[in-house]
Amino acid sequence: MVKKKKHKYIFVVGGVMSGVGKGITSSSIGTILKARGFNVTALKIDPYINVDAGTMNPTEHGEVFVLSDGDETDQDMGNYERFLDIDLTHTNYMTTGRVYLEVIKKERNLEYKGKNVEVVPDIPIEVNKRIEKASDIANSDITIIEIGGTIGEYQNIIFLEAARMLKTKYPKDVAFVMVSYLPMPSKIGEMKTKPTQYAARTLNGAGIQADIIVARSELLIDNKRKDKIALFCNIDHENVISAPDVDSIYDVPVNFEKDNLGIKLCKVLNISTKNQVTNLSDWKKFIAKSKNLNEEVNIAVVGKYFDSGDFVLSDVYISVLEAIKYSAYSLGKKPKIHCINSKDFEKGNLKINTLKKYDGILVPGGFGEAGIEGLVETIRFARENKIPYFGLCYGMQLMIIEYARNVLNWKDANTTEINPKSSHLVIDIMLDQKKKLEENNYGNSMRLGSYEANLKKDTIAHKAYGGKEKIIERHRHRYEVNPKYIEEIEKAGLIFSGTSPDGKLMEIAELPKSIHPFFLGVQFHPEFLARPLSPHPLFTEFLKATIK
Ligand code: GLN
Repeated sequence: MVKKKKHKYIFVVGGVMSGVGKGITSSSIGTILKARGFNVTALKIDPYINVDAGTMNPTEHGEVFVLSDGDETDQDMGNYERFLDIDLTHTNYMTTGRVYLEVIKKERNLEYKGKNVEVVPDIPIEVNKRIEKASDIANSDITIIEIGGTIGEYQNIIFLEAARMLKTKYPKDVAFVMVSYLPMPSKIGEMKTKPTQYAARTLNGAGIQADIIVARSELLIDNKRKDKIALFCNIDHENVISAPDVDSIYDVPVNFEKDNLGIKLCKVLNISTKNQVTNLSDWKKFIAKSKNLNEEVNIAVVGKYFDSGDFVLSDVYISVLEAIKYSAYSLGKKPKIHCINSKDFEKGNLKINTLKKYDGILVPGGFGEAGIEGLVETIRFARENKIPYFGLCYGMQLMIIEYARNVLNWKDANTTEINPKSSHLVIDIMLDQKKKLEENNYGNSMRLGSYEANLKKDTIAHKAYGGKEKIIERHRHRYEVNPKYIEEIEKAGLIFSGTSPDGKLMEIAELPKSIHPFFLGVQFHPEFLARPLSPHPLFTEFLKATIK
């Protein structure tokens, strides 16, 4: 039997408040360790009961990031994949619900052999089993585990207990990084360390001592405050890492490396750094490319999930926004992304012809009725005014609906999702989905994850993918182009340039270049495959069209 590799583990936890960048910290730590030659994998733990992120409203939770195996996960998983340029699977993601479900299933199967099954230690044991399994599957040297939530809240205590237990099991192989926040109240005029001190102490209360504290703040943290944190949080002065606000999240690994965080982590993990070299040159090239760009390209992302109370929320489409950036950088253009709420067109707050000023228009994925008419109008405007248009998932389905209504004159054309009574249901439920809905079985019930598609020769899509005949893309949808109408739609000029291998599901729709510079929609989510160092070809093709 092959001897299993011994893994090292880095837990990343958050102190003081949420939203200060645990995900980017975890990803950036991964990036610098990968640059040192380690095989790195990453896990995200979400403390909620939901078994996956698929059933949560995006305005509440942010983007649902779909993995190649179809797992519907947290947007941080997207950060890991992008920063580390790796593909993750469901083993890299867990929630409280997922862990309990497994333990209860085992209990029902008598796998605990009649023993009392307790929250502690059985839940943490299951958590650690999953962490070790993911590490084995990835054959990782170092596994980074981000524990969601903030220290001191009730929800993630069981995961801190798991982390403590793993440290007890492997005392020399586990490190704890606490990402904390140092507020700078404007009236006080100085950076305050007290909340961080309390967070470190609360973490101590869970039996865990932080090894490294990443001090997030507006500015660089000075020596005096580093001293204070070192003294009151029991850590070395040099293990307080300054993490000031940055213009671009992609600067973070480089800043960490400047602070020798890689070496410091190796020290904590008892890894020798002798003869170790670090190679961040591709990463730095990418950053250099993204800076000092003069020519702007203005892209309108028109979506239905931008409103969150009085705030604009762009987290929902994070992968889409990043994918646009990567392609723009690769073309030497400065991306200016304008997030527009489609409901504003419906309410009359915004006139549709304001879209004229953009170089390109993108409609991302979504669900349900709200904001849809504004999106259909957006697509009509893009088509009629020959503004490059890129539709993702719902953005493709609505493109078909728009075409059916305004070109084929099927005035009430719609999707079953919105109006099942329409006389032209150009988008209809997939057969195998119908049954699931009838049983009220919503969780994990869509066409999810990677599927192959065939491309039609001499189309925009075919050219964009470099002449490939087969592609693999990630999906997350329940509805599809109704086969009943395909012939008529194609007769009216739209081309289905990508289909499922059996020819039954329409994967890409486009107008020929002679009619429109770029009017293309995809049933899948190309944004999930875009990476900083390898932009997605369809986004690049769209961007190219916007530049001309
Ligand atoms: N609501 C559509 C469907 O379920 C589109 C989904 C999406 O955009 N991800 O098919």
